[in-house]
Amino acid sequence: MRMLIASEPGRPDRDNEDFAAAAPGLLLVVDGAGSPAGVESGCVHSVAWYARNLGGLLLAAATDKRHGLDEALAVSIERVNAMHAATCDLRHPGSPSATVALARVHDERLEHLVLSDSVLVLDRPDQGPAVITDGRLAEVVARLDEPDRPSPGDSDEHARFLRSRVEQLASFRNQPGGFWVASTKPEAASEALTGSTPLMGLGAVALLSDGASRLVDRFGLMTWPDLLAILGKDGPDELIARTREAESTDPDGARWPRGKASDDATAVYWAVQG
Ligand SMILES: [Zn+2]
Repeated sequence: MRMLIASEPGRPDRDNEDFAAAAPGLLLVVDGAGSPAGVESGCVHSVAWYARNLGGLLLAAATDKRHGLDEALAVSIERVNAMHAATCDLRHPGSPSATVALARVHDERLEHLVLSDSVLVLDRPDQGPAVITDGRLAEVVARLDEPDRPSPGDSDEHARFLRSRVEQLASFRNQPGGFWVASTKPEAASEALTGSTPLMGLGAVALLSDGASRLVDRFGLMTWPDLLAILGKDGPDELIARTREAESTDPDGARWPRGKASDDATAVYWAVQG
């Protein structure tokens, strides 16, 4: 099995809050999110700490095929809770959180789980790609969006905007009618999108953090088949390089309004028939 992974921070001077891993028959991407500086989170740990620990525990839990991927995720959330229940306020709405994309080979099928806005793309040569992502976070953001959103330069105004946006989003997180992410509630796992596909009909699978899917789903610069072709021919590094190239043409978000000029970007790719 030849699995390819690339992961780059949005800025070289910042922690990469994405986490990616692969084991035989198992692939995962975790994209951490949390409070920016100046917003209380109830947690003494970093977002990167949360993403790495959730990802590592999830890799271990998902290798046990007696349990579904949603159960593996629920157990992993509980295990991370146990790691910081003594030092942190796990009921705080600003606790570190993460989106998840997970895929596992089991009984000649590829099982998948997607929680929030990570993206899993199934390359099905006979039918075209299937794109699995949970749009509930985007729906909440669209409801909150104001027309006078400032640009993502390093201005104080933009920093204030992001802080108030994060506080608003926290009130929708892991609530019915809002959106669901991995954080401190194991029941979020049952809100994930899950399914399975026969390996026979599958050419490849790609798992992407939202920082690595934006050439298609935010910028509209290419299609999903184009993105899969880049991954298959030149690999995840090339996808991220092209993403950075596009972002550099629009550093202020004038053409493509977005929270961060460049986000952490992670892509995991497995050519099933390769
Ligand atoms: Zn903590």
